[in-house]
Amino acid sequence: MFSFRFRQTDKYPLIKPFVYLKKPYIERMSSSCNPTFPFVQVAVPTPLHLLFDYRLRDQQSAIPGSRVKVPFGRRSVIGIVVRGLAESAYPAKKLRAVTEVLDEDALLPEDVMSVLSWASRYYHHPIGDVLCSALPVLLRQGKPAALAHREIFRLTTGEHAAPSENRAALQFSLYNVLCEAGDEPVDASTFAALSPRWRSAIKPLIEKGVVQADSSMVLPRNSAVETGPSLVPEQQTAVDAISGSLGSFAPFLLHGVTGSGKTEVYLRCLEAALQQGKQVLILVPEIALTPQLMRRFQRRVSGCLVSLHSAMNATERSQNWLLAAKGHADVVIGTRSAVLVPLPRLGLVVIDEEHDGSLKQQDGFRYHARDLAMVRARDRSCPIVLGTATPSFETMNNAATGRYKELPLTHRAGDAKPPVLSLLDIRRRPLIEGMSDRLFDAIGQHLEAGNQALVFINRRGFAPTLLCNDCGACADCRRCDAHMTVHAKRARLRCHHCGSERPVPDVCESCGSVELDRIGYGTERIAAALAEAYPDVTIARIDRDSTRKKGALQKQLDVATSGEAKLLVGTQMLAKGHHFPGVTLVCILDADRGLFGTDFRSLEQMGQLIIQVAGRSGREQKQGHVLIQTRNPDNPMMQTLVAEGYSAFAKIALDDRRLALLPPYAFVALVRAEAPDAESPMRFLRGVSQRLMNPPVAGVYVLGPVPAPMERLGGRYRAQLLLQAERRSLLNECLARLTVNLDTLKEAQRTRWSIDVDPVDLF
Ligand code: ADP
Ligand code: ZN
Ligand code: ZN
Repeated sequence: MFSFRFRQTDKYPLIKPFVYLKKPYIERMSSSCNPTFPFVQVAVPTPLHLLFDYRLRDQQSAIPGSRVKVPFGRRSVIGIVVRGLAESAYPAKKLRAVTEVLDEDALLPEDVMSVLSWASRYYHHPIGDVLCSALPVLLRQGKPAALAHREIFRLTTGEHAAPSENRAALQFSLYNVLCEAGDEPVDASTFAALSPRWRSAIKPLIEKGVVQADSSMVLPRNSAVETGPSLVPEQQTAVDAISGSLGSFAPFLLHGVTGSGKTEVYLRCLEAALQQGKQVLILVPEIALTPQLMRRFQRRVSGCLVSLHSAMNATERSQNWLLAAKGHADVVIGTRSAVLVPLPRLGLVVIDEEHDGSLKQQDGFRYHARDLAMVRARDRSCPIVLGTATPSFETMNNAATGRYKELPLTHRAGDAKPPVLSLLDIRRRPLIEGMSDRLFDAIGQHLEAGNQALVFINRRGFAPTLLCNDCGACADCRRCDAHMTVHAKRARLRCHHCGSERPVPDVCESCGSVELDRIGYGTERIAAALAEAYPDVTIARIDRDSTRKKGALQKQLDVATSGEAKLLVGTQMLAKGHHFPGVTLVCILDADRGLFGTDFRSLEQMGQLIIQVAGRSGREQKQGHVLIQTRNPDNPMMQTLVAEGYSAFAKIALDDRRLALLPPYAFVALVRAEAPDAESPMRFLRGVSQRLMNPPVAGVYVLGPVPAPMERLGGRYRAQLLLQAERRSLLNECLARLTVNLDTLKEAQRTRWSIDVDPVDLF
């Protein structure tokens, strides 16, 4: 988030106010690529919705999309050239000069620049920050946009004498390696593995003209080692439709039940695109959580396959980004931010699990990767596939209105049957550690039959609350309006919102009583209870705590997949796309929470989570069962979901959204504000509200301001204002008017504020 306390002073370059919506930042004009302009307009990473004019020095030229180093205030920053200017609105003498042009070619090509410019207007986020956030960190810092090269060696053609084995033993072995390699060059690393002194040994060989040294680009190549199964008719229909649209914009919703072979469809379409020499972009929610998926692509794809995600180091990331941007990579598999990577040969976009909330950036430039991908696909005239078993309500609506073509996969692939879902009424039933006696019976039966059971609870830690039995006080976070979660094994209280920690106290922090109760359940507690009930069974717990160490997640997933662990306990990390062949029973403990969530998306998210978790069961020959513990077995939404499935559930929930004028039938944005005191954000937002109401815009409703559902977070107070509009254009106009001069509001000095267009949650 930005602090909008910026003031223009004469130290800053002259700025030209920019009027939103009237004119895009970046027009598609070939003349703007003329590198001989004397001035350039540059986007610099600042919270201002402005571009800045700079003067080019003699001999300097810069084309749009290239990076420049420029003075900005007292700092020197890396900016991106947006366009060349024949003349500036400001006197040339007053303009500051570009310090250095970093790229000869455009690092961000025209199409990416234009999508980003659109995104800056759509999300009302400063253009400089938007453009810069499209670059990997190292390039943002001004590092050269060069692909790594490796040293290679080969024997020169022609006559030469072999080195003597006795007098120059190392030279002799290096020479032999080169002879054996024949026409293939030998990598420096091969020599380095032979001896640390290889460099001094090879030098005389080069000097004598026996060996030739070279450098070659490091191009990772992947070879397929597997072919796919033959497709079922529905898969074939989907593949035909998508592959048949290569070369033109066509949005598809691949709506396939869990385990129906969606990934198989992606792979076939990908092959078709590669055959036509196109690049394929695949966005997945979290690569680190789904190593299986990455391995599956590696086994099946031939070509240059690279990934892009936050768990990689900065060098790897910028190398893979450059491989994609320079057209070397054939397939890019990445998380959210990969949607912004330049792809000169882009021919197909796939968004796997398009409903997943992690596709939306939650701070700074708050874009939705699915929506940006849609804009890119249209711009580049290529098909885009949104795959999921549980489409977001926006996507459901787009399919219903015919904007997206729906491709259904209604059956599970292979012999697998759909899981049977049932509600388990826990009212007036004995509960042992939050689990019903009937749940234990079911787990016991499945274990006895030699199968695996998965217990899902979307809370980590031991217990979400530590309560004093004498005075009723809870151990609360000192910086947030939230209870501390008890982590029993580490004997710590931890706040899951701000991360602060303290030891679990022996006595009540308010009254000194020793009567402290741990209330509620988390994965740690459930795993402990199950360990007690089934002492001989290996349990794999998968949540953010148990998988923090490097390699820990992989290890847990391995024991879960191999069947070594018969019981799996976890949070939504377990729900995401995993394939555990032996799981026949899934137990969902805390489904009810979604029924009473404060957010308008709570119900949608509950439905998606239940169906996704349920989808982990019975993925091979054996029938899968799902037990959902509930105290609301009569709830019509819960019943519809269980008895009729996700689509029927979504249809009813969508009708409610329509009545309440909520997305996808209306368009919303949230203005958030926060400050160290409670009053400032509210006062600031009241000012914002006044501006929005004066004059009021018909069809736009301003709700609030209200304190955020959790007002205090990390020691700061938060408030929010909700804008609801009947038409997208109205919302856009209001926000545009707002951003022009919001920082002139008095309270803007004391608050940090941000705009969230199409928010995924209202916290
Ligand atoms: P989804 O992505 O929809 O969850 P997957 O593509 O992972 O489904 O497929 C689930 C399982 O079914 C995988 O093990 C996959 O190899 C297998 N599978 C997919 N398509 C077929 C098919 N046509 N015939 C046989 N098995 C298939
Ligand atoms: Zn007390
Ligand atoms: Zn906290």
